[in-house]
Amino acid sequence: CGIVGYVGEQPALDVVLSGLRRLEYRGYDSAGVAVQTPEGGLAVAKKAGKLANLEKMLAEQPLPEGTVGIGHTRWATHGGPTDANAHPHVGGAGKVAVVHNGIIENFARLRVDLAERGHLLTSETDTEVVAHLLAEATDAQLAAGSGTLDLAEAMRGVCRKLDGAFTLVATHADAPGVVVAARRNSPLVVGRGEGENFLASDVAAFIEHTREAIELGQDQVVELTREGVTVTDFHGNPGEYREYHVDWDA
Ligand code: GLU
Repeated sequence: CGIVGYVGEQPALDVVLSGLRRLEYRGYDSAGVAVQTPEGGLAVAKKAGKLANLEKMLAEQPLPEGTVGIGHTRWATHGGPTDANAHPHVGGAGKVAVVHNGIIENFARLRVDLAERGHLLTSETDTEVVAHLLAEATDAQLAAGSGTLDLAEAMRGVCRKLDGAFTLVATHADAPGVVVAARRNSPLVVGRGEGENFLASDVAAFIEHTREAIELGQDQVVELTREGVTVTDFHGNPGEYREYHVDWDA
């Protein structure tokens, strides 16, 4: 229901959790976060119930500090409001994490295909297929010897396989300093800062940090790094988007 992404130099967990808190008014049943760790991995924490439940767990079992993170508050559509169904969902042995607003209409077929290819799905959500598809796409890039991982390209390929409405945000342990997102018939805005950039389902999530926003067009993928924002369509062509200044008071 609420989505936040961050790339910068502040502790990502603080930015993501405060962003999620600003989206709380929309209602939700579970919450979760993922951060890139200094060791080059991903750390994920998620919990059914209020954000306070997640924060209590994080206080008892702190995550490693990182400056790249994603977060989600869930309003369940497929699979009950349990810890396992909370986002982020992971694929590739925990190397890629994804959060999602909306519904992947063709998830049942994709689940069957993934299971046949040997993937173990551990939730009842429509979302989890995206994590495994991203892992397959990035593994294929590395197997093809491309050396560096292009998470935005992987996201474009995955989006071309999806039916439905979605805002997706993902991060990969082997793409340090990068968060990517995609949208189709579901809201996604970018906040541009100095040496830091933000993603959210609503500008309210980052307005305490920046008022320079980008509203993405339909069927677009955005790659966020500390230095910049790159927008394309699902085929890699440069995307057109609307830049604006948020002038209301938060
Ligand atoms: N369909 C997804 C789920 O049930 C996402 C729901 C949402 O938009 O929060 O997990």
